[in-house]
Amino acid sequence: MKKILITGGAGFIGSHVVRRFVTKYPQYEIYNLDLLTYAGNLENIADIEQNSNYHFIKGDIADEPFIFDLFTTHRFDSVIHLAAESHVDRSIENPLAFVKTNVTGTINLLNAFRHLWQDNWQNKRFYHISTDEVYGTLGVEGLFTETTPYDPNSPYSASKAASDHFVRAYGETYKLPYVLTNCSNNYGPNHFPEKLIPLFINNILNNKPLPVYGDGKYTRDWLFVKDHAAAIDLVFHKAPDFETYNIGGFNEWQNIDLVKLLCDIMDEKLGRQQGESRGLITYVKDRPGHDLRYAIDASKINKELGWKPSVTFEEGLNETVDWFLQNREWLSNVTSGEYLGYYEKQYMHK
Ligand code: NAD
Repeated sequence: MKKILITGGAGFIGSHVVRRFVTKYPQYEIYNLDLLTYAGNLENIADIEQNSNYHFIKGDIADEPFIFDLFTTHRFDSVIHLAAESHVDRSIENPLAFVKTNVTGTINLLNAFRHLWQDNWQNKRFYHISTDEVYGTLGVEGLFTETTPYDPNSPYSASKAASDHFVRAYGETYKLPYVLTNCSNNYGPNHFPEKLIPLFINNILNNKPLPVYGDGKYTRDWLFVKDHAAAIDLVFHKAPDFETYNIGGFNEWQNIDLVKLLCDIMDEKLGRQQGESRGLITYVKDRPGHDLRYAIDASKINKELGWKPSVTFEEGLNETVDWFLQNREWLSNVTSGEYLGYYEKQYMHK
């Protein structure tokens, strides 16, 4: 019997993690804490909201008295912390919002957890989910390992790096039993369409330009979100305390090649002429401080815990496109309202 607080469970990755834990572990009580910002959407987990071991709580991790009350009331023995402001472009516009949620919010959770259990850490676990962006950028060669020095370049990655440091500092200072993972770019169902893959699926559907930053040569490693959720499950249950693992897809793509592949998959599924969607590709002014290349060495989690991705990129991308085509109402709901103003500001003035 475990009582697990999952933060950010109405967001993209969090919803897949919540679903997996609620359905696979009926003996656990799962509490999903989410502020339901623009990125949080209860529709993402509507299929499990009736499960008796699932509980939703709306609230802000940056609200210290609320977080202390919550931990005092529920006495969670584990935390899986995903709640964050997660979009680099938004962090360039408003860095403080990222400090508030990603840094202060994480410290509030650490403090509340420490306050509860500092006299007895046995069978307690604080799992902090982070990104490979904390490592900064790579040149054309090399891979990020768990010992690569932190060198964040965007306000988003700086805030995530700060939160990682605090988690490790609580491990050293208070012996708070943490595990931490840094993962590469995720893609899949429920991805909010401000990020590259869902944005472009939506734009292709609507015959809108596909805004590719700079020369399109930026390189990222991509991982299917359900494989990330499986890795989180494994690390949560099997990793030793105070360990860090990199999680990646062994799957590097230059943005422009990925966009072309996506265009071709969409043309085929929509019955359009091959090459039609590629005509929508438009190069736009680069994002400031844009990191050239991220690539993950995921051999530690592979060797020590036996994890590897279960699908190829083509399989994952096909499943993702099918999901978006079958869930157009979800897409149109999340791309109305606030999204439209953001989209105009971000892409229409370049
Ligand atoms: P997301 O933006 O889709 O979801 C974030 C969720 O957190 C939303 O449901 C939002 O409502 C909630 N939230 C935001 N501020 C909150 C607050 N103050 N209090 C409570 N809830 C709040 O993000 P995501 O892409 O699912 O990322 C989840 C985590 O994984 C983040 O920590 C992110 O840094 C990390 N990560 C993401 C990726 C990726 O490719 N998306 C890769 C590696 C790591």
